[in-house]
Amino acid sequence: MADVLPALDDQRPAGGKRSSKRDLILNVFLAQEGHVSADDLVERIHREDHRISRATVYRTLQWMVAAGIARKVDIGEGRFRFEHSYRHPRHFHLICKVCNRSSEFLSSDIDVLIEEIAAARNFSAHQSVLQIYGTCEQCRTGRPPTVDGGTTELLFARDALRIAIATERSGLEFYVRAAKAVRETRGRLLFERLADGERGQLARLEARYQKLLATDPLLEARPTFLFFKGAANGLFAAGGEQVARGIADEEAVAIAIKCERASHRFFKRYGEKFEDSEGKQIFLEVAREERSHLEMLLREYRATSRRRPRRRRVPAAPRMRRAEA
Ligand SMILES: [Zn+2]
Ligand SMILES: [Zn+2]
Repeated sequence: MADVLPALDDQRPAGGKRSSKRDLILNVFLAQEGHVSADDLVERIHREDHRISRATVYRTLQWMVAAGIARKVDIGEGRFRFEHSYRHPRHFHLICKVCNRSSEFLSSDIDVLIEEIAAARNFSAHQSVLQIYGTCEQCRTGRPPTVDGGTTELLFARDALRIAIATERSGLEFYVRAAKAVRETRGRLLFERLADGERGQLARLEARYQKLLATDPLLEARPTFLFFKGAANGLFAAGGEQVARGIADEEAVAIAIKCERASHRFFKRYGEKFEDSEGKQIFLEVAREERSHLEMLLREYRATSRRRPRRRRVPAAPRMRRAEA
């Protein structure tokens, strides 16, 4: 926990002096996974130091909510619970009405739908809460789950890496196919260079994934946290099929631009939305990588369309758009 505190120092209230009580409460709170009630927290604090009053714990909780360190969650019990938001992205909940346990997930498809609905109603949305009530597997079958949810931050990083790896893999496959499909040396060399870039990136991501797995032996088996239907790897797969049918160099570059642009947008958009976390960093890193591929392709596209006599109308050379900068 020692690495957490310095980063939170600047979030202390103005004029708030370092308080060892507050640090203790903060540390105990941040060490909890899941959703704790104020009373749970008081009980845990008292195990550490019984002189800290209930009022101090409540006040510190209020401060943590105001400082964005804690979030209030209403899981329908008639009282609030608290979860930490530090390196913990906003998420949705599945709540069992029998045992009151909840599990967390994130789905960007749901986020997108909520944005579309709000936009259609001209509504400025600040926050959305989705609670799915029902009965968990354990309460239904009597069998305890083989693995529990684990630490959300780790799950988030794991899933972000899985999505990034799947995208890089399909990107690599796309460029390998494109390098074989194009007719000119120039195009082949470009696609080979991009394939090498994807290979390097893939190796780095896979090494990072292995390193993450080493921190939790059950991590691979834990439930999915991040759900994506329209992830970027599908774009490259579709592009790869187009390219494999045999294609002019310029068209292959145009398809690659379309894929990289969509992929860049996907990782940047979600990376920016997530709260600070390793998962967020992974998304933003992939976005930067995709952007550099996109720039390389755009340069090539402009160079070849300048060089080549127009046999047919080619679409206007795509440019970087402001949102991609
Ligand atoms: Zn249950
Ligand atoms: Zn939660």
